[in-house]
Amino acid sequence: MNPVQLLPQVQDFLNRNHGHFIDGAPTLSQGQRIPVVNPTTAETIATVANATESDVAAAVNSSRRAFEGSWGEAPPASRASALLRLADLLLVNGNELAQLETLQSGKTLQLSRHFEIEAAATFLRHYAGAATRITGQTINPSLSSLSGEKYSALTLRKPLGVVAGVVPWNFSILIAVWKFASALATGCTSVIKPSEYTPLTALRIAELAIEAGVPPGVLNVVNGRGSAGQALIEHPNIAKVSFTGSVPTGISVGRAAVSSKLTRFTLELGGKNSVGFLKDVDAEKAAAGVLEAGFIHQGQVCAAGERFFVHRTRMDEVLEKVSKALSSLTIGDPLDSATQFGPLSNRPHFERVSAFFDQARSGGDQIVHGGKVMDRPGYFVEPTLVLAGSRTSTLLTQETFGPIGTFLPYDDEDELLSLFNETDFGLSASLWTNDLSKAMRMVPKIEAGTVWVNMHSFLDPAVPFGGVKSSGVGREFGDAFINDYTELQSVIIRY
Ligand code: NDP
Repeated sequence: MNPVQLLPQVQDFLNRNHGHFIDGAPTLSQGQRIPVVNPTTAETIATVANATESDVAAAVNSSRRAFEGSWGEAPPASRASALLRLADLLLVNGNELAQLETLQSGKTLQLSRHFEIEAAATFLRHYAGAATRITGQTINPSLSSLSGEKYSALTLRKPLGVVAGVVPWNFSILIAVWKFASALATGCTSVIKPSEYTPLTALRIAELAIEAGVPPGVLNVVNGRGSAGQALIEHPNIAKVSFTGSVPTGISVGRAAVSSKLTRFTLELGGKNSVGFLKDVDAEKAAAGVLEAGFIHQGQVCAAGERFFVHRTRMDEVLEKVSKALSSLTIGDPLDSATQFGPLSNRPHFERVSAFFDQARSGGDQIVHGGKVMDRPGYFVEPTLVLAGSRTSTLLTQETFGPIGTFLPYDDEDELLSLFNETDFGLSASLWTNDLSKAMRMVPKIEAGTVWVNMHSFLDPAVPFGGVKSSGVGREFGDAFINDYTELQSVIIRY
């Protein structure tokens, strides 16, 4: 094992007294301090302030002023340029951001580089392009004129105002970028509330945004626990909430937004995503598919596969190959470039995943691989395979958000489809087969916002993403997001 040396600027950043980022500058706070813990060692590496209501109000009011001033009036092309410069700065400062992200989340350095920073730069560029693609319609009114006058109608898309972006701990750079870049591209401004477990990278990105020419107040960051998030979404100057997180918190966020003043909201929530291997699938490819679907970032990916359905005749072969592949993963310090599998991101989540191991043992499932916490400092658990005792097994129905693949055999494709849809969630799913004709007939019958064929967890900025059923409301990416960050205004002209 040979972890990389921390860069001096990373060490300096950790040593700072962190609070929030408001009106173009880091700000301190009277709020209590929250420890930021490195999940690889369980040691505190920094602290950050828990926002008070007055911190939240300062951030929202600053973003409102920026909306009414420089940003709201900025032409789309100059908004696009600032986002493009920020994309460049993310890459220039990529090593520093990657180290910070790995230290606070336990994500391997390669994932921090590719799935956080490089992906975030790609998404920023996509949103920059979208800033210049916001259009309305012209409409021929349907009613006839009474005395010779004529009518013409058009629609305008107007930015909503200040967007509260509430971000979970699993992808703290990428998800923050999805939220504020959607807002900034459409002419809104944004206050981001990172998770209390991963607050550092958003602070650094807000500094880079100033360097990129984003005016003060356009992007603010308030740190703190759930109560800070709640104060943010209930603030009267918030025009929209963009939330990513768990289903129970999402439901309470949606309720609070509606009760506040019918504040617009979009929710990207959890999943219990299905992966189905048709009978013809190659077992070696299936094993690689299980790792791709279920074990990236220790399974802490909202779109990750957790329910694996394999044709009964192929189950033993597939399980054997997946088990072999998991045994060969290098588990260790995520700052080491050889590491493929690191710790879970925080202690409460480690305890939650450990409880699922106990549940599998006592609930009649069979643990085929792993199933234990690891005897080392930090929040490490073994990558785990479970053969479900029945289709109602807890591990097959509740989101674990961890490195646990739960398997169930099926006998025919009608049964497979009913298994796919037998869940309250509907974020994503994947089908694996050489028979594309069969796949394309099955896809529309699957209740999920995204269905992949022969791949999983591939997010492309051009392709809309979001959940159906309990997995959420609204879509990110593509041009679909524009509707959720703008209000439609109709104009009718008599001449
Ligand atoms: P949580 O729902 O616990 O938290 C998400 C964010 O909401 C955090 O910033 C949290 O702060 C904040 N928060 C907590 N309570 C409130 C409240 N009452 N009002 C406003 N904000 C609040 O989710 P996790 O952070 O545990 O993330 C894991 C979940 O996120 C999983 O279910 C996963 O599936 C889902 N997810 C969904 C994605 C998608 O695109 N659909 C993508 C990524 C994750 P704090 O952390 O400080 O408590």
